[in-house]
Amino acid sequence: MPPSASFRLVRARIPDGGNDTVETSIVVRDGRIERLGAGAAPGLPDLDAGGAWVLPGAIDGHVHFDEPGFTHREDFSSGTRAAAAGGVTTVVDMPCTSLPPVVDADAFRAKLHVIAPRAHVDFALWGGVRGNGFEPATVDRSLASLATLGVRNIKTYLISGMDTFEDLGRDELEHVMRTAARLDLVVGVHAEDREMIDAAAARAHHDPDGRSAGAYARIRSAEAEARGVQTCLELAASTGARLHIVHLACGAGVEGIRRARAGGVRVTAETCPHYLQFTVDDLLRMGAVLKTAPVVKSAADREALWQGLADGTIDMIATDHAPGQWPEEKHTGSFWSDYGGIPGVELMLSYVLSEGVAAGRISLERAVELLSAGPARVHRLGPAKGALREGADADLVIFDPAQCWTVRAAQLQTRQKYTPFEGMTMVGRVLRTFVRGVEVFEQAQGPVGKASGRLVVREPLPS
Ligand SMILES: [Zn+2]
Repeated sequence: MPPSASFRLVRARIPDGGNDTVETSIVVRDGRIERLGAGAAPGLPDLDAGGAWVLPGAIDGHVHFDEPGFTHREDFSSGTRAAAAGGVTTVVDMPCTSLPPVVDADAFRAKLHVIAPRAHVDFALWGGVRGNGFEPATVDRSLASLATLGVRNIKTYLISGMDTFEDLGRDELEHVMRTAARLDLVVGVHAEDREMIDAAAARAHHDPDGRSAGAYARIRSAEAEARGVQTCLELAASTGARLHIVHLACGAGVEGIRRARAGGVRVTAETCPHYLQFTVDDLLRMGAVLKTAPVVKSAADREALWQGLADGTIDMIATDHAPGQWPEEKHTGSFWSDYGGIPGVELMLSYVLSEGVAAGRISLERAVELLSAGPARVHRLGPAKGALREGADADLVIFDPAQCWTVRAAQLQTRQKYTPFEGMTMVGRVLRTFVRGVEVFEQAQGPVGKASGRLVVREPLPS
């Protein structure tokens, strides 16, 4: 039975510090957590969690759901159903993979009009600044207009493969950061050094192996990524802007962020499950199924990312969910023209609890921070999101930590049925997902209910 948005969840094991959990009840009334703890709730039906874990819904702060404009890849309905199936109750959608790109208030409103009726989980939107026709005064006006609509994070690229959303030069990024600092917006950057990559690609041009996956990985090197991160950190230091490094993939970047933060730079960072799981050896074996930008790196880089998650240098995990059309866009005849992106939103929570918590790399407490509280803070989603807290939205995941299952792309909700995690055994599985107390996923049925996701009201900017 699909419960209404008011019920008492009983026999719920919630995180209680470190790897501990404690069994309790959660009273949900009108979509909010009214009370955590034992006690009667007259008039409310009981819902039995059966002793399973109950976690705050995960937040994926970096998804590309492609609507409107690129819905042959994903759309907001399929993307948010995949989120619900993965225990993700809020997503923050990128501005660059929809048309028109969300670079001003008109584009924001146009996108919202299309996607809002199709959202199965709650959502917020990134704004962005692109290199196409960059004009400082226009950019400033556009950023101010986006801020009044609640946008708090602005996406930019130091290297972009998209005609409709070109990268910024250093001076342009510096201008965006100055404006963002004044408006108190966070500047998210895809940080890979374009000059280094272009130069390496030019050198490889006559190499007979120059179009292989291995050459791609060598050209889009850890050094190029570390240089890109360094550029962003320097600009954040000189402008005072808040910086967020998206999809961090290299150990040198982790170290650069650690040092910069110690020196007072306002920087946050995210990494993704694929960088925590795979290395370039896997890329050579799998080919385009694992093609992303940045590309996966070495085992030492992977280790440094886990360390950065454990010690607090990295604030959150996101997926960069960006499926290409399968199979066409992943089998173009050349690794270089194959689509760079993979689906991810549906596997994030299970992956982190399996390979992070069950495998002993991070505590349950830290995992929940990285999946819920961290992204809520970075994206300034406000007190209603990101934690099991009285007064917060009842965004809940019932999770069986003992249930093992095997990833099969064919069974996922995303429109594109491929994943580099194919065949992997995960320890722990999402049983049910609730957004503001309304059930949106149940393991046996799949996604349930109608699309009732809402735009999240962001924290106000300082006046
Ligand atoms: Zn992305």
